[in-house]
Amino acid sequence: MKIICDTHVHSDNSFDGESSVAEICESAVKKGINTVIVTDHMEAPEIRLGDKSVYGNACKSIAQSVSDVEKYSEKYKDELRLLKGMELGEPMHMPKLTKKALEIADFDFILASVHNLKDEEDFYYLEYNENNVDSLLKRYFDELLDTAQNAEFDSLAHLTYPLRYIYERTDIRPDMNKYSGVIDEIFKALIKRDKALEVNTSGLFELIGTTLPDINLVKRFKELGGKYVTVGSDSHNAEDLGKGVEKGIELIKTCGFKYYTVFCKREPKYVEIWY
Ligand SMILES: [Zn+2]
Ligand SMILES: [Zn+2]
Repeated sequence: MKIICDTHVHSDNSFDGESSVAEICESAVKKGINTVIVTDHMEAPEIRLGDKSVYGNACKSIAQSVSDVEKYSEKYKDELRLLKGMELGEPMHMPKLTKKALEIADFDFILASVHNLKDEEDFYYLEYNENNVDSLLKRYFDELLDTAQNAEFDSLAHLTYPLRYIYERTDIRPDMNKYSGVIDEIFKALIKRDKALEVNTSGLFELIGTTLPDINLVKRFKELGGKYVTVGSDSHNAEDLGKGVEKGIELIKTCGFKYYTVFCKREPKYVEIWY
């Protein structure tokens, strides 16, 4: 049976999200999506700034996200499984405050991301050139390794995130073999700690044209003994919900996995791949 779960979805409780949880549910039912995990942003810079953050107080917006999910999971209980998640940005920048954020609710699923390096803005805002790409990527993978080894989460989101912007704005095409050592260490840490790797399908519709991470890295994760892979569209509006998720599941199968994973009450559950 074809079971489609989108485990990376933003509602309008994220500063960059456009659709309400109600609209997301409606879209899921229309598209035949079985499970949606709402994973609104909780970013380290916002946690630090609290009410002073231009994006609003992330703790309040996550509490709202959770309460919306609770309300609509009841309303849609016969048609859809709606779960409570959070995308935790840079959990190693402020470990104590991040730990508190994890106590806001009984989450089903926590994604960990690195969107910005310590003392830098989000990769979205950086300027890239031949001289800085290598050192930025090196710092990115080092921070991800620290996250994979030490943070509290379930799945590591969109590995290779900076490539999205490097491809979009420059002609630089970094040789990923340069980072294979540290990427292997990240995978080994995930495997040792029973964490999942996310296949983020948003890149399929951007200039980079691949999932984040791409098929070669997902294959490597499998080779090293990876068990859990989650799939998410990273949609920021109801229209994009589930976009690319079937392709992502197919890709996982190509890499040798029989199952993909959905987390419920922070426990991994295998979902059989039907292809
Ligand atoms: Zn993200
Ligand atoms: Zn996201």
